[in-house]
Parts: sequence; C-alpha cells; structure tokens
Amino acid sequence: MSPLKERAAVAIIGGGVIGLAVARALALRGVGEVLLLERNSLGAESSSAAAGMLAPQAEANRPHEFFYLTCRSRDMYPAFAAALLEETGIDIELETTGTLYLAFTAHDVEELERRYTWQKNSGLPIEMLKPEAARIHEPSICDEVRAALRFPMDTQIENRRLISALAASNKRLGVRLETGTDVTSLKVERGRVAGIETSRGFIAAERVVIAGGAWSSLLGAADIALPNLRIKPVRGQMLCFEANPQIVRHVIYSPRGHIVPRRDGRLLAGSTTEHAGFEKRVTAAGLQAILSAALEISPRIASLTMTDSWAGLRPRAADTLPVLGPCAEIEGVFYATGHYRNGILLAPVTGEVIARAIVDRVFPPELNIFSPDRFGMVTVN
Ligand SMILES: Cc1cc2nc3c(=O)[nH]c(=O)nc-3n(C[C@H](O)[C@H](O)[C@H](O)COP(=O)(O)OP(=O)(O)OC[C@H]3O[C@@H](n4cnc5c(N)ncnc54)[C@H](O)[C@@H]3O)c2cc1C
Repeated sequence: MSPLKERAAVAIIGGGVIGLAVARALALRGVGEVLLLERNSLGAESSSAAAGMLAPQAEANRPHEFFYLTCRSRDMYPAFAAALLEETGIDIELETTGTLYLAFTAHDVEELERRYTWQKNSGLPIEMLKPEAARIHEPSICDEVRAALRFPMDTQIENRRLISALAASNKRLGVRLETGTDVTSLKVERGRVAGIETSRGFIAAERVVIAGGAWSSLLGAADIALPNLRIKPVRGQMLCFEANPQIVRHVIYSPRGHIVPRRDGRLLAGSTTEHAGFEKRVTAAGLQAILSAALEISPRIASLTMTDSWAGLRPRAADTLPVLGPCAEIEGVFYATGHYRNGILLAPVTGEVIARAIVDRVFPPELNIFSPDRFGMVTVN
C-alpha cells in the first residue's frame, strides 16, 4: 500500500454515502487536499444495504424541521442525479413513478387518514386512493387492500450505483479516497483539531469530518471530550427477488414493510429494525418478518425466485435525529452522521450543509436542532 500523504486540508472519516457526498461538495467548492479515509471499501456498510427510497412524505407523521430537511434533500435529487451522470456517465436510476402506501386493517386506514389530513392541509402533493384506483396503478397488489395513499414526489434511486457515481466524481475532482485505512483517534491541541491517527500513520488536518456511520461514537482519544452522540447500530435486513418482467412500478409500503422495484428486474423487500449491536447478519426471524410483509403487499411475490439477502447497520443517534455541523468545543471538527433510516435521502443536503459550514463558516440557525452540541460532551477512553 502506498504511503499516505502526511497532511490534508480536510480529512473525512468514513466512505459511505455521507462521507462521499461531503467530499464531493467540498471539492466542488474548490477545496483542495480533501482526503477521505475508509477502513473497508467504499459504501461497504449501511449505504450498500439500503433500499434507496427517497420517501420523506410516506414516512412522516408531522411537520418538523427533520421533515423539511428530508423534503429539501429529496428535491435536490433530480439536479444531483443529472450532475453525477454528466460528470461520471453513471446513471443512479432516479425513478419518479412515486410511492404507494397501502392499508390492510382498520388501524392502518386510520394511520393513512391522519397522514393524508396533515399533508393535504400543508399543501403537499398526496392522493388518497380507493382500492380499485390503487389497483389501476398497481394490478399486482393484494385484493385485501382497504385504502392507499399515493405520494407522487416520493421516489427512489439505486444506492449502489450512487456510491459508484460519487466515488468516480470525487476521483475526477481530485479527492483522495483511501480505503483499507482505519482512523483510530483524533488529535486535539489547545481546543482545535490537529489531525488523525490512522492504521497507516498520522495525518495532520486543519478540519476533520466525522462521517463514520454506526461507528461514529467509537472515535475518540485519551482525555479528549467529544459530543456525547451515543450513536447505536440499528440492524436492517433485506431480501431480493428476481422479477422479470417486473411486477410493480411504484415503491410500495405497508405499515409492516416495503417493496422496491429496480430497473434490472430485482425486487427488494425490507426491512427489520433490530437492536443487535454490531452483528451484521441475516436471521431466520428477520427473513420471516420481511417475507410476510411483502406477501401481504403482493401475493405474486410467492412465485418469485429469491436471489439474495443482506443486512446493514443504520446509524441512530440518541434522539434519532441526524447529527450535522461544527462542534463548538473543538475548532475544526464537524459531524455528518446519525442519518439512521434516511442517509441516502439526506446525502445531497448533508454535503451542501457541511461544505458551507467548512468553506463559508455558515451554519443556518434553523439547523441548530441537528447540532452535535445538543448532546453535551463526554470523554470516550
Ligand atoms: C436495510 C436498510 C435499508 C435502508 N433503506 C434506506 C432507504 O431506503 N433510504 C434512505 O435514505 N436510507 C436508508 N437506509 C439508511 C442508510 O443506509 C443510512 O442512513 C446511510 O447509509 C448512512 O450513511 P453513512 O455514510 O453515514 O454510513 P455507512 O454507509 O455505514 O458508512 C460509514 C463508513 O464509515 C466507515 N468507518 C467507520 N468508522 C471508521 C474509522 N474509524 N475509520 C475508517 N472508516 C470508518 C465504515 O467502514 C463505513 O463504511 C437503510 C439502511 C438499512 C440498513
């Protein structure tokens, strides 16, 4: 392995979708000497495991700063996808058919009605469909469906292609992407970051971005207090079927699961929400839960071939919100983590917000709710 450069203007810890999006946004703003460090391969963790849904409305129960942030990022995707295609030739397969949310029980119908009412009253694009209308959109859905919501603006992308496109874009922009490199600790001197210790030696850096996904709270250094994020891994399992020809066009949710059609004939089904530490594995109980939710959505799945299954670890902060922005206590340290269920969706806006905070030293007050300073400080070692 070649020796690492000994210094960087900005060192980014973590090569998932978030670290890559931040690196690209910095390079696009003219920052030179951006170095991204990934202990594994790019996108190897949660970012490859995801379903790629960009569905803020389908999942939102109330208007909130987090909801506005997710909508803002979703709405950045058409330009983001077009720019990546132009820069790299890689199509991230932004599908704009929309998202359906199905109700099968009286309780499900109540949930849909609540969501419809607040979103309609807020002027958001949303349609309430009777079962017959839902079946016109998607003839393969189950006969038992009682009602459906359609979210025309909620879309999806192919997240593994997104990783490839971001990696190619970063290389083209001159960002150094170092895989197989573990960052072991931060070095802080007189209240400002001086650099990072890695498995390949020390790197001096004026700015450090922590984008380590579910591992973000494990980074520290003796006697250095860092924000007490308490980021925990939340396991999600996924199944993959072969559906050639494809059996649905929309991303389809029920309160118990979702299915996601891909252009190449794969049909993904997810997911579980499990507190199982760092055990990234597929279990019999996980498969059973996902299968039962998928078959409830469309019994036609019963005859499809199951081709793959996998698990990933979502990074969840103590209050479930993302952690974004500068650390007030340590000059030069920035956080871009805790994206939990929405890191693919939030990648474009995270890149923008962090790049602005670093380059222009501007962090919008309406985003203070996501600041790492909300947690207080703790010494890790
Ligand atoms: C099953 C499943 C389905 C999902 N579906 C969706 C979806 O449909 N839409 C959506 O928006 N989101 C979804 N998510 C969530 C999304 O995947 C995550 O929020 C997102 O990938 C987080 O990106 P990240 O870059 O922060 O983390 P990761 O992708 O986990 O990347 C963090 C990287 O940091 C590296 N790292 C950590 N510590 C160090 C260190 N000390 N030194 C070097 N490298 C380090 C890790 O190796 C890792 O590669 C899903 C997640 C799962 C598991």
